[in-house]
Amino acid sequence: MELFQLTAHRLHEMLTKKEISASEITSEVFKRIDRVEEKVKSFITQTREHAEAAAANTDRKIAAGEKIGPLEGIPVAIKDNMCTEGILTSCASKILNKFVPPYTATAVDKVYAAGMALVGKTNMDEFAMGSSTENSGFFPTHNPWDLERVPGGSSGGSAAAVAAGEAIVALGSDTGGSIRQPASFCGVIGMKPTYGAVSRYGLVAYASSLDQIGPFTKDVTDMALMLNAICGHDPLDSTSANLKQSDYTKALVNDIKGLKIGVPKEYLAEGIDPQVKERILEAINKLTSLGAYVEETSMPHTDYAMPAYYLIATAEASSNLARYDGVGYGLRVEDAEDVIDMYMRSRSLGFGTEVKRRIMLGTYSLSAGYYDAYYLKALKVRTLIKQDFDRAFEKYDLLLSPTSPSTAFKIGEMVNDPVQMYLQDVCTIPVNLAGIPALSLPCGLVNNLPVGLQLMGKAFDEGTLLRAAYTLEQNTDYTRLWSEVKGVE
Ligand code: GLN
Repeated sequence: MELFQLTAHRLHEMLTKKEISASEITSEVFKRIDRVEEKVKSFITQTREHAEAAAANTDRKIAAGEKIGPLEGIPVAIKDNMCTEGILTSCASKILNKFVPPYTATAVDKVYAAGMALVGKTNMDEFAMGSSTENSGFFPTHNPWDLERVPGGSSGGSAAAVAAGEAIVALGSDTGGSIRQPASFCGVIGMKPTYGAVSRYGLVAYASSLDQIGPFTKDVTDMALMLNAICGHDPLDSTSANLKQSDYTKALVNDIKGLKIGVPKEYLAEGIDPQVKERILEAINKLTSLGAYVEETSMPHTDYAMPAYYLIATAEASSNLARYDGVGYGLRVEDAEDVIDMYMRSRSLGFGTEVKRRIMLGTYSLSAGYYDAYYLKALKVRTLIKQDFDRAFEKYDLLLSPTSPSTAFKIGEMVNDPVQMYLQDVCTIPVNLAGIPALSLPCGLVNNLPVGLQLMGKAFDEGTLLRAAYTLEQNTDYTRLWSEVKGVE
């Protein structure tokens, strides 16, 4: 295997045995970027100097005989909606195409504190609105498995970077599925932690009550290590949970005997590709043979999650995106007649079609005449969905479903059909509405494209998700499939 294909924990082992230096790892990853980036287009900004400086620091520590942390010197890619002091943070939007933040997001600070080497900021759907990365204001990203296909979205750049070997791990953000769905399309693991587990300070807000930062990795051990690095209380985020810091590597146990798993029948209903369903049923059989107790259950309000999400997310977005007015930051039309003209033309020029559509939807449902009929109703539906989960978790330790109804679709296939695109997230959206953790794990291929299995857990019970994923990983070839990525070669 080539260096860029290895996991963070394997590279760490090689570093501590002095079989390789951190500078060599960085250099190999950038060689890979130079070779494939033109085809994949994962990055908006590459930060080679930053990575080299971090790697040199790691090497200095090793040479001085100091102990290094498990992620020191490991190349990481970060979605371009997390603020990085001194480095462009564009959210893939023309309105922020010159925004260089004066501060760094807490999650990114933690990644720096762990000694990781930032290789670049990744492409995404503009302001994280989308499921294919085609809504980027700059260019689409291509799926490393098949360059004619999308990598999923909105964190498509981060997922593609890990799958293509352009970074060892990455961070994304998930408001309705934007980590899990691209992980599923690119054959890597993606996790949305519990709402409040990772600080949102410095994450450019899309829908603040749903947004959560999480990692992309190639195996479950790396996932646990990344969670150890980024989770934890942050006084700068008032929704950050003040809990004792966990060591997620303790959950890496190859044993799920007696674990109770529910499969909500609404998540395997029509609309799910039959071959995707086959892979999911095979995974269920595997779990059963490993000693888990799996049965069908029902989550009766699932059908209402999608409409509730698109009301709540767009309402919050319309409010969050009001700050881009050409004054504070971002693009400004210079030849405006007056301030209103400046607001209107700056916004009109800076925002893309999907962002405008959502601002209009959001302001409409929040307007005095429609607030009760739409926004308030959606909040009530959100409570019903949360109660579906509460009831299910009285009986089950985990819930299971496909991550996405299909494998990666072709670039251009859905751009003119926003509703079809929104349906990509039927299985992932309820999780954000309920605030619980979920991960997507590869579970086989259909026509040489990866399928993702979604596991959903109780709030702050990331450990059980990791244990189930780890057990599956140890007893299948699921997390080794990505090394078959052929599209970019
Ligand atoms: N695809 C969903 C949307 O467009 C989810 C996006 C996300 O999780 N950021 O809103």
